[in-house]
This record gives sequence, C-alpha cells and structure tokens, in this order.
Amino acid sequence: MTIADQIHQIRQIIQLNAQKSGRNPDHIRLMAVSKTHPVSAIQAAYESGITDFGESYVSEAVEKVKSIQNQAITWHFIGPIQSNKTRSIAENFRWVHSVDRPKIAQRLSAQRPSHLPALQICVQVNFFDEAQKKGVSKDALLDLLGFVDQQPNTVLRGLMVIPPPQSEYSKQLEQFVQVAETYHKLQNQFPSMDTLSMGMSNDIEAAIAAGSNMIRIGTAIFGPRGNNHL
Ligand SMILES: *Cc1c(COP(=O)(O)O)cnc(C)c1O
Repeated sequence: MTIADQIHQIRQIIQLNAQKSGRNPDHIRLMAVSKTHPVSAIQAAYESGITDFGESYVSEAVEKVKSIQNQAITWHFIGPIQSNKTRSIAENFRWVHSVDRPKIAQRLSAQRPSHLPALQICVQVNFFDEAQKKGVSKDALLDLLGFVDQQPNTVLRGLMVIPPPQSEYSKQLEQFVQVAETYHKLQNQFPSMDTLSMGMSNDIEAAIAAGSNMIRIGTAIFGPRGNNHL
C-alpha cells in the first residue's frame, strides 16, 4: 500500500471509532510520526493532506524542517530531550510533547525566538510508573504543570502518554481511560489544557474510545522503521 492508501485507512479508522463513541472525528488531530523516514515520505503524506508531523531525534529533525521549509506544516517534537538540545527544539518546532522536567521547560521558554509565537507544550507522563520509561512521575506532575504554565514563552496544552503495550483492546482501553480521567481533572486547574496526546499505530482505536484528541501514527502510515536509531 502507498502512503496515501495508509493515510486513507487511518482516517477511516478515526472516523469509525469516533462515531462509535459519539465523538466528532474532526476533533481528533492526526500527527504523522516521520522519524527515520525520508523527506520524500513526508512530502507524500503532505500531499495526502497531513499537516502535523512528529519527529524524535533533534539533528535528523532539524535537517528535515530546514530542507522542507513549508509554513503549512506544524512540526511536533516527541522524543527524549537533553538540555543541550533545547535551543534547536525551541527554534524549529511549534509543539513539544515530551517535556518531563522543569529545567527543560525553563530552557525551551527562554530560548524560544521572540519573533515566533509561544511554544505549545504537552507534558509527558510516565503514568504507569515503568522503570525504563521517560516522563514525569504522577507525584511530580502537578508541580511540573504549574511550572510550565508560568513560563512566559510557552503555552501548556496538555498531556502526552505512552502506556505499556497491551495486545488486548480492553486492557489498552482501561489504561487510556485512567489517563483521560486524570487529564479531565487537571483541566479544571489549568484551563489552557485542551490536548490529550495518546494513541499510536497499535492502540489507536482504544485511544479514541478513551478520548484522545491527538493521535501519533508512524508505522501504520510510513511502514516499519529501520533500527538505525535504536
Ligand atoms: C515513534 C513514536 C510514535 C509512533 O509509533 P508507531 O507505533 O510507529 O505508530 C508515537 N509517539 C512517540 C512518542 C513515538 O516516539
């Protein structure tokens, strides 16, 4: 299948699953995760109507952003962040989904160029307390949200979560519902939060059922990634 075909299929999955849960499919944003894939693949996805792209590796991503130079594209940084890379991220992305500590939030805000609009931030949460997983712990979440909310050149938009993989739909759903409940409670405290970034190629249906409004899809659009980055 071509990239266009795969995108068409993902859009149908979004449509169908949104309808099943009485949601408006237009309220679910589809991000194509293009890490490790070439500029030609990004261009093919763009021609199929995708305008949100996610990247995880700073130097690879910045090269692509600079070579594509398309103002209609919104670039999302979704990978682990080292503090010596925050300037490149602040200069080249519109969204960051992987903020996990105050120092990173502070640097992204301080280094955001003044001619650009505020950087849109989701805080990544290690919601299920996994040993190897990136993200702020649930215990430290509230403080981090408060901190991000106070930075001058960022806007707190929401939460990003990658739950432990589960093959059963019911288990995926159970995890996503827990995250969604926490998200909805936090929205009362932080009114700028309107984004629940969860759902990848293997759990898109459950994420939509639980209320995700930002789906991040790599493999199901672009095919398998080489392991040159692993
Ligand atoms: C790679 C990646 C994705 C895409 O994963 P697929 O399973 O290929 O759809 C989504 N989110 C994050 C944070 C990623 O690193």
